[in-house]
Amino acid sequence: MADLPLDSAPTLPAAGGAREYVRIENVTKRFGDVTAVDDVSLSVMKGEIFCLLGGSGCGKTTLLRMLAGFETPTSGRILIDGQDMAGTPPYERPVNMMFQSYALFPHMTVEKNVAFGLEQERLARPEIERRVGEMLEIVRLGEFARRKPHQLSGGQRQRVALARALVKRPKLLLLDEPLGALDRKLREHTQFELLGLQQQLGVTFIVVTHDQEEAMTLATRIGVMDRGGIVQVGRPSEVYEFPQSRFVADFIGSVNLFEGRLVEDEPDHVRIRCAELAHLVHVDHGISSAPDATVWVAIRPEKIELSRERPAGDQNIERGVVRDVAYLGDASVYLVQLDGGRSVRVRLPNVERHASDRVARDEAVWIRWHPSSPVVLTQ
Ligand code: ATP
Repeated sequence: MADLPLDSAPTLPAAGGAREYVRIENVTKRFGDVTAVDDVSLSVMKGEIFCLLGGSGCGKTTLLRMLAGFETPTSGRILIDGQDMAGTPPYERPVNMMFQSYALFPHMTVEKNVAFGLEQERLARPEIERRVGEMLEIVRLGEFARRKPHQLSGGQRQRVALARALVKRPKLLLLDEPLGALDRKLREHTQFELLGLQQQLGVTFIVVTHDQEEAMTLATRIGVMDRGGIVQVGRPSEVYEFPQSRFVADFIGSVNLFEGRLVEDEPDHVRIRCAELAHLVHVDHGISSAPDATVWVAIRPEKIELSRERPAGDQNIERGVVRDVAYLGDASVYLVQLDGGRSVRVRLPNVERHASDRVARDEAVWIRWHPSSPVVLTQ
């Protein structure tokens, strides 16, 4: 599972070919006493799908609205294609925004909805018809051109909103929770469609979402936000496998976190004493931290092995009892209570079809992880 984002995410333009398209420089936005966006600096490359990911109220939408020109930064600068956007109204920016609600006109047909922006620009009728026709083909809605929004499914409405945003050929498309209104199956389908469209049209996308799966599938890079700031930027596989803080480790995916102290710190390995574990944690790489420093060991549930027999070796092995099992179809998640009382989540693929072959609740088990699996965090 951990490899999926790496394989499915589109790649950035080759090194050297990447060109900065959006530059956010020390942008802060205050509403009275509330600092919604706090000193954010960020570059987005041309042709990227950049996802701003964070919990409710962390400032994602405010940042997006400042890019679109609906809000003005309290301080800092926003440059798009090298041009400072200060004083440029939304309609003069090379930007279009697709809203969470899609905001379609209910009384207009699909083609009228898509044509609306071009009519505002007073383009010639044949030009409008040609561009709307083309765009409806791209989002595969040609046969629905005469329907009204209430005669469409959620996914089709989402594609109308997308067509309406793209028909104006923006260089930068901002999407606020684009898949929020869709059910799971449709979301997966639409995510891949969105990727295909992006590659076909070469638009730069900035997507706001609180859903890490959405970000993982779509993004070339993810910017994780917390309390108005960007706390980590990286490719999906980087933020998942190499989180730089407990917040990111915990926010992206599921993680077991143990507080401990460094008792041995060598260039090629460290040992950490955690009060909740019976044995020292052995990690096969060094970290740069003060001796005896407090650190946190983060281990993903899919990186822990579970067995009825004691595994071979003498490192990173703990004993416990299975207290709960969640069967998810492709995998099961086991809640293992260790001898010291602490519970650990272990995720295993369901290779065997028969439940009798799998470890069950109340069984005594051993868990083990490879010394390369833990991430050691200092903040
Ligand atoms: P969500 O995922 O819930 O939409 P978000 O990350 O998009 O959240 P924002 O909408 O950017 O968050 O809001 C960030 C903070 O700024 C919140 O505390 C919010 O209450 C506050 N805020 C946003 N807009 C305004 C406003 N116009 N006036 C006052 N406070 C605001």
